[in-house]
Amino acid sequence: MYPNGAEFCLSLRPAVEMCTNFPYWTSQWNHLKGALDADSKQYVLKMHEVARSYGVHLYCLLVGSSFEDPDIDYLKELVAAGHEVGNHTYTHLNVKAETVESLQVVYAGAPWLANGRTPLQIIRDEVRATNAAIRERLGVTATGFGTPGAFSTGLHDVPEVQALLEEEGFTHVTSHYLSPASRGAKRPPLDHVEAAMCKNIDQLQPYRYPNGLLEIAPMALTDIAAFRVLDLDRWEYVRLLKTAIDHAHANRYILSLAFHPPAMTARDPHCDVLDTVIRYALEKPGGCWIATNSEIAAHLGAA
Ligand SMILES: [Zn+2]
Repeated sequence: MYPNGAEFCLSLRPAVEMCTNFPYWTSQWNHLKGALDADSKQYVLKMHEVARSYGVHLYCLLVGSSFEDPDIDYLKELVAAGHEVGNHTYTHLNVKAETVESLQVVYAGAPWLANGRTPLQIIRDEVRATNAAIRERLGVTATGFGTPGAFSTGLHDVPEVQALLEEEGFTHVTSHYLSPASRGAKRPPLDHVEAAMCKNIDQLQPYRYPNGLLEIAPMALTDIAAFRVLDLDRWEYVRLLKTAIDHAHANRYILSLAFHPPAMTARDPHCDVLDTVIRYALEKPGGCWIATNSEIAAHLGAA
């Protein structure tokens, strides 16, 4: 089934970026996604320490603008420990934008940055600049691509983006997310969320686009959805993630979970959620294969 005879698989996918309303409730970070503050950097290292204590690796999405910061020791430490990094564009672009202004607030405020390029050309340039930054400053290659934000339609409606990612050498992407609760519905009954979440996990098992690009979707409930959208507390969030793990285990699934360090440092400062999730998964009968997205892609076979 899975390596080491495991019954199911878990991928842990932090997006290393700042997030609106985290860690400070009134902060807007959309134009500064790569400007990691000290608490968020520290939290990335805490996630690394928890992962290391179980001998597992994270799949970290990196924003190219993070490398404008002279202090990237936290990222160097991640890479040295064997965690894998993926490309998350340079400024955190909307890869479905049809106008320069809707690519990102940075371009809305300074549309001349496009300098005659189309949105798709800007996306390609940002992908390449991020690959270059990761290569030059960390000495590793970005494996895979994660769309900033995720889409309920994945990349199905943008074949040109599927093609772009394949042309840029990526074999896997993470972009397709189904919300288990309607937006604006604060604190919904958890059993409703759990039922919807399990149905979504069924639907989001890894699949390929027509050109062979593998989708490894973020599943269950993101921390942003749990804390910002639904206003759950962290033990409610843990309960939902345990249910997701139970469901993945029962069905021998792959389960990919997305986290955001600024949200987690605000709501789970001691990293109890990640610790609990990893331990719970590993203690399941038959065990869990905790893998990075490239390891999952390799396991599922080349396109
Ligand atoms: Zn992001």
